Amino acid sequence: MRSPLDDGQPPASASGGDIAYVSPQSARDMGAQLRLFIDSVRDYAILTLDPAGYIVSWNTGAERIKGYKAEEILGQHFSRFYTPEDVASGRPQMELEIVNREGRFEEEAWRVRKDGSLFWANVVITAMRDSQGQLVGYGKVTRDFTERKQTQERLRQSEERFRLLIEHVQDYAIYMLDADGRVSTWNAGAERFKQYKAEEIIGQHFSRFFPPEDVARGKPWHALQVAASEGRFEEEAWRVRKDGSLFWASVVITALHDTHGQLVGYAKVTRDITQRKQNQERRELEMLRDAVRARDEFLSVASHELKTPLTPLQLKLTSLLRVVESNPSASLPVERIARDLEVARRQVRKLSDLIEDLLDVSRISMGQLRLDRAPMDLSSLAREVVVRYAPQAVQVGCAVTLEAPAPIEGYWDRARLDQVITNLLTNALKYGAGKPIHVRVRVDSALAVVSVRDEGIGIPHEDQPRVFERFVRAVSERNYGGLGLGLFITQQIIEAHGGIVQVRSTPGQGSTFTVMLPRGPDVETNVTPEAGAASEPGAAGAPPDPDPDAPPEP
Ligand code: ADP
Repeated sequence: MRSPLDDGQPPASASGGDIAYVSPQSARDMGAQLRLFIDSVRDYAILTLDPAGYIVSWNTGAERIKGYKAEEILGQHFSRFYTPEDVASGRPQMELEIVNREGRFEEEAWRVRKDGSLFWANVVITAMRDSQGQLVGYGKVTRDFTERKQTQERLRQSEERFRLLIEHVQDYAIYMLDADGRVSTWNAGAERFKQYKAEEIIGQHFSRFFPPEDVARGKPWHALQVAASEGRFEEEAWRVRKDGSLFWASVVITALHDTHGQLVGYAKVTRDITQRKQNQERRELEMLRDAVRARDEFLSVASHELKTPLTPLQLKLTSLLRVVESNPSASLPVERIARDLEVARRQVRKLSDLIEDLLDVSRISMGQLRLDRAPMDLSSLAREVVVRYAPQAVQVGCAVTLEAPAPIEGYWDRARLDQVITNLLTNALKYGAGKPIHVRVRVDSALAVVSVRDEGIGIPHEDQPRVFERFVRAVSERNYGGLGLGLFITQQIIEAHGGIVQVRSTPGQGSTFTVMLPRGPDVETNVTPEAGAASEPGAAGAPPDPDPDAPPEP
């Protein structure tokens, strides 16, 4: 290379190489500039030594890194920068000998500052020779790499810790596969679940962990393919241990790529979750058993309930038959026959109601509860039901009052709402026998509200949120018959209308069931229960405004 100063003269020296010819004056100027530059460099300690290793020149960087001022250190031997052990082993001299032989020496090692502290130094020592090749001294450039060294050390330690962690993890098999699916690392967890020692398995294809039928279907290769194309593959499946036994594994395979995006292998994490699977299966089995038990209980209650009306029915029919048989020609005791027929008719009605409830439940569970809506008056429906059950009310000693001052029109399924009011009233007669019952129909803003209040046994607080569930009963079947379906069906019918049904009850004092119905066909105006109302004992379903029908709070 020639400099712009090149004036066609020959180079200053044969060994000058890159240095262009310069005049003696320019050379002197450049020498001064270079010295100034070296002096002011702060990041490198640049010093020169005489052939015996004594310090001849010292720059700002040397002062900054090693802590000595020029006047303190010039003329001192450079071995004072070495640790006592290095000095004792003759290292400074050994390094100069290498420089003498090879022209240069480089190393990274600990050096000592003036205050005795150590720093990690990158050191280059170069021999300086004159044009005859005579050694005139050494140039020494030192950099302080302590921080870099510390960072590297921290990284190394964290990698080491991470490696140890993975190696010793017992609960996860964590290992690597090469790009072909061969095992390339192994940890303690892998050894524990899969029973292979590292030396037995490294280099083997991971397909040996799959059951033979999965291997035959190409599952191991499919898993790698998915991981390679989508970044990861995850599954829960059976895997095989060394002894041939199976375990239920949760597996994640992650593809690993180098900085150029080239697939270099896979990281594989496997957990043995056999125990969890077994627990889950046990729980499912228990749930299944519970369901079978509940079904059997239901069948026993249902058959008992269905049979109960049959006995009086049979008795009345037999007695009727006897009356007719023993009076072939004479006039029949019409009054008695009519009484018996009425009893028989009631029992048949009970039976058909029970069967109808069962059919409704199966319709509801199949999502087939349909409403047949038409304009109707809720007050007159309530009156009809109250009148229908007047004889039964007299029989159980309940005075039923109805408060329905004006017609309340709405667009509802009349037969279904009949079922709802009937259910609430018959429950009140059953659980509040001998006490007054009050049925009230009113309008509350956009809602039609029906409430049925009794002063009967009430419902225990803890059962109140549950009584609308299927088959749930809060009384013993010995004292009160029933299938535990009425309130479930009631709630389903009311919700299908976009309304809600709620209960407020005080054990021993009575219960009030309140139905709230939007009046239009538009189910958009659905009623939503107050937050937490249905699950709060004692206030399971408090109506939005204080209900004068509600019994006092406990
Ligand atoms: P069933 O009356 O056939 O048992 P329901 O679904 O109608 O079924 O009622 C569920 C449970 O709620 C009843 O078993 C009873 O414990 C309770 N219950 C319902 N209505 C009343 C009421 N008016 N007073 C006290 N408890 C009631």
